Amino acid sequence: MLLEKPADPSLMRTLTSLPTAGTLAKSRNPSSSKSPATTARGWSAERTKGWADPSEIGVSWAERLGAQRMTRMQNGKNRFMSHLLEALSTRSARCRNDTRNPGVEGELGKDADRLLRGSPPRTLEIPMRIASLILFVLMLGDLSSLTAQSLARDPEIVAALKRIDAGRIEKDIRKLVSFGTRHALSSQDDPDRGVGAAGSWIKSELEKAAAASEGRMTVSFDPFDPRDFAGRDRERVDGMGVHEIRNVIAKLEGSEPDRVIIVSGHYDSRCGQRWDVTSDAPGANDDGSGTAVVMELARALAPVKTRASIWFACVTAEEEGLWGSSHLAKFCDENDIVVEAMITNDIVGGAKDKNGFSEDHVLRVFSEGRPQARPDSHPRRKRQARWPSESDSPSRELARHTARMMELYTPDFRPRLIFRLDRYLRGGDHRPFTLLGYPGIRLTEPKENYLQQHQDVRKEKGVQYGDLPDEVDFAYVARVARANAASLLGAARAPRPPRGVRLLAALTNESTLFWKKTDDPSVKGYRLLMRRTTEPRWSRRQDLALVDEVTVPESKDDWLFALQAVDAEGRASLPTFALPGRRRR
Ligand SMILES: [Zn+2]
Repeated sequence: MLLEKPADPSLMRTLTSLPTAGTLAKSRNPSSSKSPATTARGWSAERTKGWADPSEIGVSWAERLGAQRMTRMQNGKNRFMSHLLEALSTRSARCRNDTRNPGVEGELGKDADRLLRGSPPRTLEIPMRIASLILFVLMLGDLSSLTAQSLARDPEIVAALKRIDAGRIEKDIRKLVSFGTRHALSSQDDPDRGVGAAGSWIKSELEKAAAASEGRMTVSFDPFDPRDFAGRDRERVDGMGVHEIRNVIAKLEGSEPDRVIIVSGHYDSRCGQRWDVTSDAPGANDDGSGTAVVMELARALAPVKTRASIWFACVTAEEEGLWGSSHLAKFCDENDIVVEAMITNDIVGGAKDKNGFSEDHVLRVFSEGRPQARPDSHPRRKRQARWPSESDSPSRELARHTARMMELYTPDFRPRLIFRLDRYLRGGDHRPFTLLGYPGIRLTEPKENYLQQHQDVRKEKGVQYGDLPDEVDFAYVARVARANAASLLGAARAPRPPRGVRLLAALTNESTLFWKKTDDPSVKGYRLLMRRTTEPRWSRRQDLALVDEVTVPESKDDWLFALQAVDAEGRASLPTFALPGRRRR
């Protein structure tokens, strides 16, 4: 608590005896002065502070302000509070010296309790009542100190973002283009031209990046038989004689290696004809840009200590039908790997559309809402299909997290959340993951240029076709890499998401959430997120102590809830959406 010490210690005792937001909400704690009125009063006081109207104040509001401005506000608030405390303590001392009014300290304490219960104080005069009420509201804010900390940026993440270099990204993209074609079924063994040479070069670059990881990053090929994923093209692929192609993956091991976060770009490319393996297919934007993002991320993040492992995946054969990422997703599923997040970067070169327009400070973030399931869908996806909200799924939560991290770490580069799996009529490498019930999102530039994508390199009537590097905005690609770094590290350096988060299935006007309390000693509390059913993003939050239950005096018909685990430094996990549940026995 960032309070200056008041003159009167007894007053300080009274003030600090006010429950924190956490104990206010903790209904299982018998020692808290809990009554429905208490909780309701505490909550509405919190609302007065500004959580009520997300258009005025809320998560995104606070984050737009940025950590520094928030700190300034916090300091201002503390100064205001110390003035109030001073006024109160002077008043208190005066009352104490007043022989006609003995025992005022006790009365003051009772008044604080009465305030909490929602009753007006008996002994305080009107100005004092107003002052106390304001003070109480401010106290709630300051006592939930995680809120202030949560707005601070993690210096390790800030440093990693600074290491991302547009010049290196440009070199990588130009080098990728220099392999002529990177068609997934082009030459596998030509040392200079084709996807084989490109894959080997990527591996050597990732190995250089691994040198900064103190042995935590390992780099390998991830080979597979393309015929296994070719479906109705199996015969054709068999006839083309390429029976092994490979993803290239750098794995940065975290201190909790059973948690995995994946970032990808596809390093294969194509020209106008899908099965043309010899013509030039520069693929500078699609997806040299995404590949360069992944490579630069491996370099920038290699020195960073994380809890979750991060896999930097340059996958192949996206253009033939997402084969490389399908192989990777299948590997994760078959090996029971907990993929907490999967982010694919595809066409992130910051192109101008054919009219010359670009939006170079916007990144589109695609995410699927509540998925639809078929009888043969993966069980995880089937469970998600029953979630009681159209706009909630693990992928959607990951998209919201990414937007939030961008607002915190790359305030000049704005997320544009797109609530659909992918672009119209198109697919991407996050899809195989979402089909297996893993959270997956796609990042793409706002203005695509279709004269460049999937085109033979040529000039027609003065118009240049083909995916050439000169059309790429390398500074934009670097911004995309920073957005990735913020999202990846924001999740990977935070605790594991809470488990077993349930919203008590009971027909009441309040909402009780309970969950499995973590045994992770680094977790110091939880954060409740709320939004109205029509809101796209979490608009309110409430920091809680290390409890396993909270009752909110709001109807679960009208609100949606999620929970984050928060560590001592204020790093918050990916949110876990609260599903209906019955209380444990
Ligand atoms: Zn692509």
